[in-house]
Amino acid sequence: MSFILKESCGVPLMVSDTIGTAHAFTTRWGGVSGGIWESLNLGENRGDVKADVEENYRRLSAAIGTRLGFAFTRQVHRTAVRRVYESDRREPYGPTPPECDGLITDVPGLPIIIFTADCIPILLYDRVKNAVGACHAGWRGTVADIAGETVRRMAEEFGSRPQDICAAIGPGIGACCFETGPEVPEAVRSLLGGEGDAFISQGRGGREHVDLKGVNRQLLIRAGLSPKGIDVSGECTMCLHDKYWSHRYTDGARGSQASIIMVKGC
Ligand SMILES: [Zn+2]
Repeated sequence: MSFILKESCGVPLMVSDTIGTAHAFTTRWGGVSGGIWESLNLGENRGDVKADVEENYRRLSAAIGTRLGFAFTRQVHRTAVRRVYESDRREPYGPTPPECDGLITDVPGLPIIIFTADCIPILLYDRVKNAVGACHAGWRGTVADIAGETVRRMAEEFGSRPQDICAAIGPGIGACCFETGPEVPEAVRSLLGGEGDAFISQGRGGREHVDLKGVNRQLLIRAGLSPKGIDVSGECTMCLHDKYWSHRYTDGARGSQASIIMVKGC
């Protein structure tokens, strides 16, 4: 299991060899935006030039081999997961999608897309039912178990068996940089009990650090995924702020990266 950097149509993308369908985690590289958004910003509401963001999406679509148009989220740090259909396909700057932090679909060729910049992106693929899921897990979504909720919705909607689902937990803030107030470790302990301690460490400044990727991996195992089927990126977006957008490093003056997955067309 590993993540590799792959360049496609001039756009460098991170992919996981655990996920057997088209997918990608974007970086800051390969786009046309300038200024604080240089260069591959995919956030529509970050203050960037609209024509540049549109060109970034055209490049992304070419790189992942699909026509322009994705099923989008409107992320609010909660746990709503929407099943989406071809009618949910939308171009950048199209109609505002309903609020949700996770998407699932079994429509071939419909890419689903979520956004992060330190939060944890999770992509899911059921190789038996040929269905996909994607969710955005900041600390609030993590402790509300959006990872497990996305798996459960795939089971309800597609009949997915958790043991058939593979997952890739992508680049996001690591325990190295995620120093928090007491509310985050408290929420992790109340969710995972004694298991939670493995993901909480003491920083040099006396404050606690939390490993959100580790917590999400544990939640996917609790939801029934095989540990062998879960790939976790070792990359921290704050440490690697030249490669990824980091909300903390930039104090919010930033673009957004995206994570995309789709069921292959026939
Ligand atoms: Zn770090």
